[in-house]
Amino acid sequence: MSCDRREFLRMMGISAAALGLSGLSLGRHLLAPGELEAREFALRPEALRAERWGIALRMERFFSQPELYDACIRACHEVHNVPDFGNPKDEIKWIWKEEFEHAFPGQQNPYLPQEIAHRPFLLLCNHCDNPPCVRVCPTKATFKRPDGAVVVDFHRCIGCRFCMAACPYGARSFNWRNPRPFIRKQNPEFPTRMIGVVEKCNLCVERLAKGLRPACVEASGGAMVFGDLAQGDSEIRQLLREHFSIRRKPELGTQPSVFYIIGG
Ligand code: SF4
Repeated sequence: MSCDRREFLRMMGISAAALGLSGLSLGRHLLAPGELEAREFALRPEALRAERWGIALRMERFFSQPELYDACIRACHEVHNVPDFGNPKDEIKWIWKEEFEHAFPGQQNPYLPQEIAHRPFLLLCNHCDNPPCVRVCPTKATFKRPDGAVVVDFHRCIGCRFCMAACPYGARSFNWRNPRPFIRKQNPEFPTRMIGVVEKCNLCVERLAKGLRPACVEASGGAMVFGDLAQGDSEIRQLLREHFSIRRKPELGTQPSVFYIIGG
């Protein structure tokens, strides 16, 4: 792994107290909870913080500028060393496109405007408020941070894939093969994964720790709005107040933090 593991975990905001552990295995080392907390609290002052992160996608902007889909996907996958195996069977995806009927099953009807029914939607982990993937993980490799980001500790993942079965959104991918030879251009600041590990969107927690917004949001040119859902005066809350939005599979009670604004 090219990035320092301790630094990466510090950026992820792992707290041994939050995990309820007496110590956390970091490769060959074992850090005491106090040490971990000190590292967490030593987050840079410029880090972006929130009570509850969320993303709103202004779909009319994607519809009118279709190049934005690939710009967002490319930005995410490049920064996170997502491999491209060149075949759908092995595909690893953190953010991807799906037509409305696949993205929002149960929300379509025969009279939907064609421009909605057959337009792609950009999908990613919903960083659910009530994430079933977290509940089923036997090693606590996947966990929800206090700010709502649902992340994976790649070194704790034992590849059981319970989380993949539990996620109703297909947001997780499994490395059936060694991904490293299939990374086009490696970003040395983010860890690469290995065969047998599950991965997904991490809400760019490593960028938030540096005061940067998620890579997809940056690449979207304003089509994706990122902000604190708990703050009534945040841009995302204002947007959600003024426009009708939908979420994926709301009937499941997972409470996604990703919103799709369909109208203008
Ligand atoms: Fe977990 Fe899936 Fe929800 Fe993401 S979308 S938090 S992987 S259940």
